[in-house]
Amino acid sequence: MRTRNAVARDYYGILGVSREASDDEIKRAYRKLARQFHPDVNPDPEAQEKFKDINAAYEVLSDDRKRQIVDLGGDPLAPGGGGGAGGPGGPGGAGPFVGFQDIMDAFFGGAAGGARGPRPRTRPGADAILRLELDLHETAFGVEAPITVDTAVLCTTCSGAGTAAGTHLATCEACAGRGEVQSVQRTFLGQVVSARPCTVCQGYGTTIPHPCPTCAGDGRVRTRRSLTVKIPAGVEDGMRIRLAQQGEVGPGGGTAGDLYVEIHERPHDVYSRKGDDLHCRVTVPMTAAALGTRLTIKTLDSEETVDVKAGTQPASTLRLRARGVPHLRGTGRGDLYVHLDVRTPTKLDPDQEKMLRDFAKTRGEEVAELSKQGGFFSRMRDAFNGHA
Ligand SMILES: [Zn+2]
Ligand SMILES: [Zn+2]
Repeated sequence: MRTRNAVARDYYGILGVSREASDDEIKRAYRKLARQFHPDVNPDPEAQEKFKDINAAYEVLSDDRKRQIVDLGGDPLAPGGGGGAGGPGGPGGAGPFVGFQDIMDAFFGGAAGGARGPRPRTRPGADAILRLELDLHETAFGVEAPITVDTAVLCTTCSGAGTAAGTHLATCEACAGRGEVQSVQRTFLGQVVSARPCTVCQGYGTTIPHPCPTCAGDGRVRTRRSLTVKIPAGVEDGMRIRLAQQGEVGPGGGTAGDLYVEIHERPHDVYSRKGDDLHCRVTVPMTAAALGTRLTIKTLDSEETVDVKAGTQPASTLRLRARGVPHLRGTGRGDLYVHLDVRTPTKLDPDQEKMLRDFAKTRGEEVAELSKQGGFFSRMRDAFNGHA
C-alpha cells in the first residue's frame, strides 16, 4: 500500500487543481470526482483505486497543515513524512469507507444528522387508473357508466388506526421513537453522521403490539367497489376523467388517491371519427351520380335527406353541418362528411350494353370494342385463373 512513498505524490494533479486552488475549488473538484469514481456509483475496480487516490488528495489538500508539507515538497501521508499519526480516517484515506450518499450529505448538509424524525404511519393513497370501453354513441352524447374497481378502502374495524380494539401503538424501543438510528464515522471528512431508518419499526418510531385482526395493522383493506361515472358528451379516445379521492385509501387510513377513468372508444361500423367530425361512405350508382338523386342518411341521432347533384363526380363529399360529435365543454358539434363512392356497373346484359354504346355514340365518346376472345385483359384474367 505504501510503496509510493519514495516520491511525493502529485496531490494537486490527482484532483486536477492548480497549486493556487482555493479551499472551495478543492472541495468542488473532490465532489465532482467522487460523483464519478465512488464505488457506490462506479463498479469498475480501477475506479476504486482511483477513488482512494482522490480521497488521499482531498485529505491532504483540505488540511492547511498537510497542504503546507506538500507545498514544501514533502508527503504528509508517507510514514515519517511529517504528517504525524494520521488524521481522521487514518493515513492515506484508507480509513472507514464512507458511503457516496454520506459524502454528498456531508457537503450539502443533507438529511443525515438532521431532524428527519419518524415517518408518519398515515400516508396519502395511490392514484388508480381504469380503462373504460365506450361506443361512439356514448362518447358523443355522454353516459352514466357503471364501473367496478379493485381498490383499498378504510378498515372499518380499526378506522385506519391499525391497532386491535382497546390497544395502542407503542414507542419503538430500538430507536426510542426517532424512527432512525444514527451512526457516526470518523473519516478524513471529519465526523460523518449517517442516519438509517430503524429496521425494528421500519422508520415509524412506533410499533403495533396488537395489530387489528382485519387489516393486520395496515389500516385499510382491499375490496371490489362499484360506482357510477358520469361521462360528459364529446369525450375522445384516450381522454382521462379524474374522480377525486376515488383511488386507493392510503396506509393508516390516509387520504385516498384519485381514480382516473381512461376512455377507449370502440370503432364504429359506419362512422370513423376525426376529432369531432365524423366520416362515412355511401355508394351511389353511376346513373344516380349522373342524373342526380336524393339520399336518406342516418346520422348518429337523426335521419337527414340530402341531394346528390346531377353530374356528381367519383370521390365527391357531402358535408352535413353539425351532425358530428358535440364539442366537449362548449356548444356546437362537429360535421358529418359523406364520401360518395360512384359505382360503375360491372355486369351488363346485351340490351344494357347496347344502350350504353348508343348513349356513348350520341355524346361522341369513342369506345373501342374489346374482342370477345383474346384481348389483353381477358388473357391476363385467364392467366390468373389458370386457363392458359
Ligand atoms: Zn384494521
Ligand atoms: Zn424503531
